Amino acid sequence: MCAQPNDLAPFWLPFTPQKSFKKKPRLLADAEGMYYTSNDGRKLLDANAGLWCVNAGHSHPKIVEAIKKQAEGLDYAPSFQLGHPIAFQAASLLCAEMPGDMDHVFFSNSGSEAVDTAMKIALAYFRAKGESSRTKFIGRQKGYHGVGFGGISVGGITPNRHVYSAALLPGIDHLPHTHSLEHNAFSRGLPEWGAHLADELENLVYLHGADNIAAVFVEPVAGSIGVLPPPQGYLERLSEICKKYGILLVMDEVITAWGRLGCASASERFGIEADIITSAKGINNGSVPMGATFVRKGIYDAFQDGPDEVIELFHGYTYSGHPLACAAAIATLDVYKDEGLFERARELESVWEDALHTLKDAPHVIDVRNIGLMGGVELDPGDREGKHEKSRAAEAFDRMFFEEDLVMRFTGNTIAASPALIVTEDEIGQIVERLRRVLEKID
Ligand code: PLP
Repeated sequence: MCAQPNDLAPFWLPFTPQKSFKKKPRLLADAEGMYYTSNDGRKLLDANAGLWCVNAGHSHPKIVEAIKKQAEGLDYAPSFQLGHPIAFQAASLLCAEMPGDMDHVFFSNSGSEAVDTAMKIALAYFRAKGESSRTKFIGRQKGYHGVGFGGISVGGITPNRHVYSAALLPGIDHLPHTHSLEHNAFSRGLPEWGAHLADELENLVYLHGADNIAAVFVEPVAGSIGVLPPPQGYLERLSEICKKYGILLVMDEVITAWGRLGCASASERFGIEADIITSAKGINNGSVPMGATFVRKGIYDAFQDGPDEVIELFHGYTYSGHPLACAAAIATLDVYKDEGLFERARELESVWEDALHTLKDAPHVIDVRNIGLMGGVELDPGDREGKHEKSRAAEAFDRMFFEEDLVMRFTGNTIAASPALIVTEDEIGQIVERLRRVLEKID
């Protein structure tokens, strides 16, 4: 079935130049497995698992069936002062996949909400422990933590903060980013240079005082800025410093959890003991909006010392633990396990890496980065830098859609890819071949 576009005016698309999009829209009508169908009937290879979320492939029949069945039964139930079994079931199953004693989860509807929830839990936790001076947060330059005011404040992507600067949260500082073409260009997996950048946290502790800092927020692999794997040893150092000063380490795993790096979480893959893990996207294959903030046992327990009738955390969403989202999450977890998709991602990692790095000699390419099934290809911006014209990466994205039937993201000057974990070796070859052809056409 191919949908016809209706009036394009009313829908204000996120993170999209409205005028150019509406002049020449890129419209998707259907999806199955690794492919979209465009509204003009073309089959497009999806190199991005939707938006880093459809890890088991589009419209997986078992997930679709679970959502249908749930909608016919309990379509909606609130989680304020009431509960429904499927939310408890989803919470138990999902927590079981998280590392160590990360035994509790707060549900929301998106990664942004999962991050804001983590910030609130961190503040409330220290207050509950009698350490209420711990109110500051540390983020990182180039970090993406969604679009809530908490997320953009702790985040470090300039255009996402710029216009809203008057309303950013106070008391937030940032670690330096780890992007360095000079030291790390064309690294395979974790780059060698940059672990020392984590030591900047010591300076921030010196500046602000450990007893004023609640939490550090980092993406284990910075995704939205264009795939920046952490330098070797970097996360370990960050974790050590957090532990030394009693600061919570929040791993924002909205992209990296649920198989993207071949494990349920990047924390598991890198052996890092986070205190809070934020998640969304792949948690239920992107099928129903869902965010999740996982916390270690000790954090949840710190809230449980008060009187029985007092609400411990004044926070929550109408759709926290939405039955459809939970049904989808349970079915998704089954699919990940039954089809061995995390193992598959691990097996394909070297194929993915080798294929991407063949682009080293393609026109304009100044870096290729990869980890798990994530990849970034950075382009030399040339003389388009800073001008109000289409960047090379944006042009590549558009050409890939119309000329190569390929959907691949771009951010700044980097083309980013993250295929579903069901991708075949042949499709990996196709992604790279089509991208090369496009790069060869660009001035
Ligand atoms: N945190 C990270 C690390 C993300 O990558 C994203 C989205 O890509 C978010 C938060 C925000 O998630 P959402 O768009 O679901 O609000």
